[in-house]
Amino acid sequence: MGFLHALKEQGTATVYKIQCELPSMSRPLYETILTGVTPTLSGIVNNQVARNSNQKSVFSLARQAGLTTAAAAFHWYSELYNCSPYDAVRDRHTQDTEQLIQYGCFYHGEHYADSYLYLDAESLRLRHDPDFLLIHPMNIDNAGHKEGMDSAHYRNTVRRSDSELSKYLPTWIDAGYQILITADHGMNDDKSHGGTLSTERDIPLFVIGKHFSHQQSCTPKQIEICGIICELLGIEDHNKSVSENLLLKDQLMKKQYFKVITS
Ligand SMILES: [Zn+2]
Repeated sequence: MGFLHALKEQGTATVYKIQCELPSMSRPLYETILTGVTPTLSGIVNNQVARNSNQKSVFSLARQAGLTTAAAAFHWYSELYNCSPYDAVRDRHTQDTEQLIQYGCFYHGEHYADSYLYLDAESLRLRHDPDFLLIHPMNIDNAGHKEGMDSAHYRNTVRRSDSELSKYLPTWIDAGYQILITADHGMNDDKSHGGTLSTERDIPLFVIGKHFSHQQSCTPKQIEICGIICELLGIEDHNKSVSENLLLKDQLMKKQYFKVITS
């Protein structure tokens, strides 16, 4: 991902290597990333558990705080946080301020082009100005299942995703967004994933934005991504774990100051 690494080389982005929770599967880890809860505790232990999340998530906590939420994502996110089972006609284009994901553009074909998905996301951002926007492309995972992780198809799909990001990230960075780029899990040589191999578990976390410390010594965990986002959104009393030193202390101090003078 040459563009992301160019941002790293110029000091705009910092990348951390983190390990995904188990099982290294999609739906369980969507829930982990958005709730900070491991699959064995959330009960979303395989891809077939198609029900609403019963945990506090970035979406529910943001809504509780009166913030605006949006997602351009696979339909399993709609099932976890909005309506389950997914009804494409009803749910593909969601615009409902009562839902946890108020503005959604959901897809259900795993081959849905990343280029369209990023367009969907940018359109949601421009039309609804969400406080939190989840963008979830699927082509890399799909390429791994089709051709395996050691294939030109897999690697080239990653390169195309990097190129898509290069179309939008400069605008988002200029607009002052705090951006996290990560994966739910990796892939194995058998064109699948789910277990404990390093290729299945080792994933990146790129962070961009002035509220991150950009300290290389931080060791964030996948279960802390939810808490990091809650902190960035200014959500109080979220009770989610947050990685030590990943965020700038003066931001947190400012918030405490804000808290004191408003209470
Ligand atoms: Zn997969």
